[in-house]
Amino acid sequence: MVTGYAILASIITLPVHRAKPWRNGDWMCTNCNNHNYASRSWCNRCKTQRDMVPQPVNVL
Ligand SMILES: [Zn+2]
Repeated sequence: MVTGYAILASIITLPVHRAKPWRNGDWMCTNCNNHNYASRSWCNRCKTQRDMVPQPVNVL
């Protein structure tokens, strides 16, 4: 059943392409909820310092 398989494949792959991949140390800005990479010391959007974030996100 080719059609059914295509739908199933789209369900599996879509979230991967839509959602940004989070990595260890990535953090969310408490001011604007912007996703920032672990390498950033301040928010990419509003320049809030990373020190304001209590806990970095750990992705196992
Ligand atoms: Zn921010």
